[in-house]
Amino acid sequence: MASPTTDDNQIPARRVAVVGAGVSGLAAAYKLKVHGMNVTVFETDGRAGGKLRSISQDGLIWDEGANTMTESEADVSSLLDNLGLRDQQQFIPSNPIALIRSSFLSPQSKFQILWEPFLWKKNSSETQESVGGFFQRHFGKEVVEYLIDPVVAGTSGSDPESLSMRHAFPELWDLERRYGSVISGAIQSMLSSKGGKKSPPGNRKRRRGSFSFFGGMQTLTNALCKEFGQHELNLQSKVLEMSYSCSDNSAIGNWSIFCAPVQNKQLNQQPFDAVIMTAPLGNVKEMKITKRGSPFLLNFIPEVSYMPVSVIISTFKKENVKRPLEGFGVLVPAKEQENGLKTLGTLFSSMMFPDRCHKDLYLYTTFVGGSRNKELAKASREELKEIVTCDLRQLLGAEGEPHMLTHYYWSKAFPLYGRDYDSVVEAIEKMEKELPGYFYAGNHKGGISVGKAISSGCKAAESVISYLDSHSKVEGGGGGGEEI
Ligand SMILES: Cc1cc2nc3c(=O)[nH]c(=O)nc-3n(C[C@H](O)[C@H](O)[C@H](O)COP(=O)(O)OP(=O)(O)OC[C@H]3O[C@@H](n4cnc5c(N)ncnc54)[C@H](O)[C@@H]3O)c2cc1C
Repeated sequence: MASPTTDDNQIPARRVAVVGAGVSGLAAAYKLKVHGMNVTVFETDGRAGGKLRSISQDGLIWDEGANTMTESEADVSSLLDNLGLRDQQQFIPSNPIALIRSSFLSPQSKFQILWEPFLWKKNSSETQESVGGFFQRHFGKEVVEYLIDPVVAGTSGSDPESLSMRHAFPELWDLERRYGSVISGAIQSMLSSKGGKKSPPGNRKRRRGSFSFFGGMQTLTNALCKEFGQHELNLQSKVLEMSYSCSDNSAIGNWSIFCAPVQNKQLNQQPFDAVIMTAPLGNVKEMKITKRGSPFLLNFIPEVSYMPVSVIISTFKKENVKRPLEGFGVLVPAKEQENGLKTLGTLFSSMMFPDRCHKDLYLYTTFVGGSRNKELAKASREELKEIVTCDLRQLLGAEGEPHMLTHYYWSKAFPLYGRDYDSVVEAIEKMEKELPGYFYAGNHKGGISVGKAISSGCKAAESVISYLDSHSKVEGGGGGGEEI
C-alpha cells in the first residue's frame, strides 16, 4: 500500500513516534494527526490513559488517578471542542468567598489575606524559594500550615518546604515579579485580560472551575484513543532503545524505535522523522539511545524524586455517617497528624458527582502517602482500610465497616518539582538540543496538572511540525546539510 501523502505537496506524510499514551502523549499524537502526520504511539501498559484511570463497577464510577481538571490552558479548550466533549463535562461548583467565611482560619489570618497587598514582604534571597517560604511572606504561617500544606499534599503528594515556588506555581511566582502583591496582581491581570482582545466569533467562553466527565476522567483519553487506528496506537509496547541516524546527503535523519518483545506481537516499524517522548524521565534514563552509531549517554539526567500515593475508594451507607460535611472534600494539614490523622485528604466523590453511586451510599476517594508518609503509601489493603476507616470516623463520624473498599497504588504518582528542579529542566533542554527531531513533553515539564500535561503535549507537537516544515523546505530547496 502506498504511503499517505500530504495533500498540498505530494511528498509522503511525515512519520512521528510518540512514546507514552498518557494524556500528554495522546494529545500530542492527536494534534500531529490532525495536521496530516503519520503517527505511531508506543505504550508500555495494556491500556492507554496513564494517570487518568476510571473504573466503572457495580453501579459505581470512580477515578484512581486524577479526579478533576481545569480549563486554564487554551490547548485544553481546543481539545475539548475538537473532540466534541463539551456535553460530557461535569462541573463542580466552586466558591472562593467560602474560604474567608470558613472557620478553619483565625481572624488574624483572614485579615492577613485581605490586607496582603499592603502587608506582603519582599524575598531577600532571589532564587529557588520554597512554596512554604513564598506563601508565608504573603499570607502568614497559619495559611501555609492549614491551607497551602494540605492543598500541596493533596495535589502533588508533596510538602510546601520541598517544592520550588518557581517550578510548582510559575503563574503566582510571575505575578509577584510583575506586581509584588499576589492579590492585587491577580486582580490587575484579570482586568487587563478582560480589557484585552475579544475572543474570535464562534469561540465559546471558557467556563472557570474544576470538572470531570460523565464516566470519569478517562472519558477524555478514551475519546482521544478513538481517533487512532489499530496500528497507530500500540499497547504493551515498552520502548527500550532508540537510534538516530542520518546519511550525508539527507537533510533530515531517521529515528528507529525498539520495543520489548511481546509474545504474538510483531512490530514492523519503518523509521520515524521525529519523536515525542512523554515517558517519565526516570524511565527515559533507563532507555538506550544511540546517535549516528555511537551511544548517547543519558547520565546527565538527574535523579527525579517521585511521590508515592495510594488512592483508596470506599463507600459507606449514608445512615452510618453521622457528620457528613458540606462541600466536596477534606484536606488534612500535616499538623493534624499530631491528632492521629494519617490520610492526606478525602474527596467526597458522590457529593461532587452524585451520579457515580447509589443514593443510599457516600462514595469517598482518600489519598495516603506522599512526602509525609512515603512508607504508608505501599501498605497492604487491610492496613489502608484501617487507616481510612479510622480517619473517616474521626472526621465524618463514619461508623462501622465500609460497604466497599478498594485501592490503587502509584509508586511514582507525582514527580517532585523540588528546589533543584532547574537541573531537570536543563537536562530536558540538553536532550532536545543534542538529539535532532527529539522533543520531550508531559508532566515533568511545565506543571503536573492534567491541563498542563495536555498543553505540554500540544506544544511538543507544534515544535515537531515546525521542525519538519523547516527541514522539508531545506529538502525541497535541493539539499543543504542539517545543523546539529
Ligand atoms: C493519584 C493522582 C491524582 C491526581 N489528581 C489530579 C487532579 O485531580 N487534577 C490534575 O490536574 N492532575 C492530577 N494528577 C496529575 C495528572 O494526572 C498527571 O500529571 C498527568 O495525567 C500526567 O500525564 P502524562 O501524559 O504527562 O504522564 P502519564 O500519565 O504518566 O503518561 C506517561 C505514559 O508513558 C508510559 N511509558 C512509560 N515508560 C514507557 C516506555 N519505556 N515505553 C512506552 N511507554 C512508556 C506510561 O505507561 C504512561 O502511560 C493526579 C495524578 C495522580 C497519580
